[in-house]
Amino acid sequence: MARMKVALVGIGKIARDQHVPALAASGDWELAATVSRSGTVEGVESFTDFAAMLAARPDIPMVSLCLPPMPRYRYAEAALLAGRHVMLEKPPGATLAEVHALERLARAKGVTLFATWHSRMAEAVAPAKAWLVGKSVRRAHITWREDVRKWHPGQDWVFEPGGMGVFDPGINALSILTDILPMPVHVTAATLEFPENRDTPIAAQIDFSANVSADFGWRQEGPQTWDIVVETDAGTLELRMGGNRLFIDGQETAGEDTIMGEYPALYARMAELVRAGTSDVDLAPMVHVADALTLGRRKTVAPFHF
Ligand code: NAP
Repeated sequence: MARMKVALVGIGKIARDQHVPALAASGDWELAATVSRSGTVEGVESFTDFAAMLAARPDIPMVSLCLPPMPRYRYAEAALLAGRHVMLEKPPGATLAEVHALERLARAKGVTLFATWHSRMAEAVAPAKAWLVGKSVRRAHITWREDVRKWHPGQDWVFEPGGMGVFDPGINALSILTDILPMPVHVTAATLEFPENRDTPIAAQIDFSANVSADFGWRQEGPQTWDIVVETDAGTLELRMGGNRLFIDGQETAGEDTIMGEYPALYARMAELVRAGTSDVDLAPMVHVADALTLGRRKTVAPFHF
C-alpha cells in the first residue's frame, strides 16, 4: 500500500527525539513537509508558516502537531477546517472544552482526529490491562518522579498557564492508569506544590477514590521513577519504566527496557483510524488533571530556575 503523506508541525524536542525516527521507519507514512519557526528536517520541504503549508500542499492529508498544548488548538482548528486529518501530541489541548470543539469539528468535516497518549503504547500496558481484567483492586499507587531539566531543558512553557507543570509527565501515568484499571476512579483530594516564581505545579500528590493515589515530582535527579503498583485480590502488579516492564508478584513477565516502540505504534494506530474513517479522542486522563487542579490545596515552595 502507498504511504500517506504527513506534515510535522513544531520541530522541537519530541519531534526530533521520537516523531522523525518513527516516521522514517513507518510503512504507513511519509514525512512530506515540516512547519516550524526554527527547526527543519534534512531532505524534507520546510515551511515557517502553517497557512502557507496548507495552501501549498493540498496533497498532504495528515498533520501531526508536536507543539506545546497552548498554541496547539489554533493549528488543529486550521488543519481540520482545511480538511486534513490531525494527530495531537499529549496532552491534547490546554483545556477540555477546546478538545471537545476539535472533536465536533473533525466530525463535521469527516476527518480523523487522534488524541494520542504515547504511554498507552508502552510495551507492558496491554498485558497489564489484560492481567487486571476481572480482578479486584485493593490499592494502587503511582510514583512518577523525573528531572524537568533533563526532559524539558529551558522550556519555560511548562511553567506558564496552560503548560500543566508536573502534570505534563504526570498525565502519561494517568493515561496508563485510566487504560488498565478494571474500574473508573475519580480525584478526591490533591496537594499541589507551586514554585513561588511559577504558575504551574512542580510536584503533586493526588488521592483518588478506591484507594488509588499518585505522587508526581519534577525535581528528581539521578535515576528516574515511572512506576505504577496495583495490589489486587490475586497478587500485585508492578508496571515500571513508564509502562514498558511488567512484574507480577515480583517476577518480570512482559515488556522491554525501551520506550522506542511507543511512537511507531501511535503512527500505526493513526493509519488504522484514517483507513477506517474514525477518530480516537479519550479525555479521561485530562479530566483527572483538571479535577486535581480544581480540588488541589496549593503549597508555595522554593523558586525554580532552569
Ligand atoms: P518544545 O521543544 O518546547 O516545543 C516544540 C515546538 O513547538 C518548538 O520547537 C516550537 O517550534 C513550537 N512552539 C513552541 N511554542 C510555540 C508557540 N507559542 N507557537 C507556535 N509554535 C510553538 O516542546 P516538546 O518537548 O517537543 O513538547 C511538545 C509536546 O510534546 C508537549 O505537549 C509535550 O507534552 C509532548 N511531549 C514531550 C516529551 C518530551 O520529552 N519533551 C515527551 C512526550 C511528549 P518552532 O519555534 O520552531 O516553531
